[in-house]
Amino acid sequence: MTKFSPEAALISTRREFGEHGGVVPSVERASTFTVLEPDTMPEIFQGKRGPENGGCWLYSRHFNPTVDILARYLAAMEGTEYAACAASGMGAISCTLLQLCHAGDHLISSDTIYGGSHAFIGDSLPQMGVSADFVDITDLKAVESAITPQTKVIFTEVVGNPTLKIADIPALAKLAKKHDLKLIVDNTFSPMIFSPKQLGAYAVVYSLTKFINGASDIIGGAVCGPRDLIYDLMDLHTGRLMLLGPTMDPRAAFDVAQRLPHLAIRMREHSRRAMAIALRLEEIGVPVSYPGLANHPQYDLCNSMMNEEFGYGGMLTIKCSDQTQAQDLMGLLQNKEQFGLIAVSLGYFDTLMSCSSASTSSEISAEEQERMGLAPGLLRLAVGFTGTLEDRLAQIERAVREIGLVK
Ligand code: PLP
Repeated sequence: MTKFSPEAALISTRREFGEHGGVVPSVERASTFTVLEPDTMPEIFQGKRGPENGGCWLYSRHFNPTVDILARYLAAMEGTEYAACAASGMGAISCTLLQLCHAGDHLISSDTIYGGSHAFIGDSLPQMGVSADFVDITDLKAVESAITPQTKVIFTEVVGNPTLKIADIPALAKLAKKHDLKLIVDNTFSPMIFSPKQLGAYAVVYSLTKFINGASDIIGGAVCGPRDLIYDLMDLHTGRLMLLGPTMDPRAAFDVAQRLPHLAIRMREHSRRAMAIALRLEEIGVPVSYPGLANHPQYDLCNSMMNEEFGYGGMLTIKCSDQTQAQDLMGLLQNKEQFGLIAVSLGYFDTLMSCSSASTSSEISAEEQERMGLAPGLLRLAVGFTGTLEDRLAQIERAVREIGLVK
């Protein structure tokens, strides 16, 4: 069997052109659509129709033609039957989990996930009657022993935010299959590098805000999965995406779709730069963590799961002695060296830096942070690709020496 290539799959899917033959698709901005035959309207409401099923453009909180183009491109890239877009990554994640878990159900989540997802799973879901346990996702025994008769979902990020712990997706998929659970995987840190559906996941969720859009100017999300899940999410009477309403704007969908053709090039360059920086830091004795370094705890696992032509991704961490040292280092890197920007988020063409414990993971208690291996001085770098690599290497080396991280 030939290996799945997200790059080839994306380009071989049906390409959309503009209404007048434009090389780019037209943007359908209508909020509502004329239903040409009166019989069609009840069929749409009965769920008998959809964009792929007899045609169905009704109202843009439901399916929208431009948003659907992006959804189909993303489904092709993941090799899933279909996809739906949302106004944010959190919109996609929360609606997907709410679609699959109801009051009385139980969910198992990796303990190393984005703080917003952690807060939603640990705080919001229990208030709706869905209980959750956070486990070390690399400990498969711990995952299996957390399963109860009420468990419906295992949720994980492939590359955990911010510890870069890597989940064994094939093993988790096997476990999910054995216990009839749905494995939902957030691949925000590593689009194209991993293809979670091909590794056995039930559905893949994304914050498109990050690498996929790549320009830090749009908030968006997506869920790629089986056709039934997408139609359930969009069901006019019961669909969580439809009823909670985190709808992607067609103009945002158009912009993201225009950036997908160069995602592969961008991912390769993020990876090339991050690898070079990680190697240089390791060489001079900085405590750096990067999935492409042989001392990363899941290095072999990463190699066994990845689509190797995209490298090991753009995310790396530096373990500073404490939060003050991490902040001092960020200050130097931004204000003296112009190496990058102190900002949350990731996947931008400039390097973004944040100290996770006090920012994007601050929803997680200090005790839980310690348990999941998130130290207060952990500095997260989302490596960009502006400037010359030689200059970037010199800048970061000067800064870590000045801060006293190495002698
Ligand atoms: N998933 C991960 C791994 C993230 O890092 C984030 C945001 O930082 C999200 C999901 C949420 O995405 P959004 O901000 O688009 O809602």
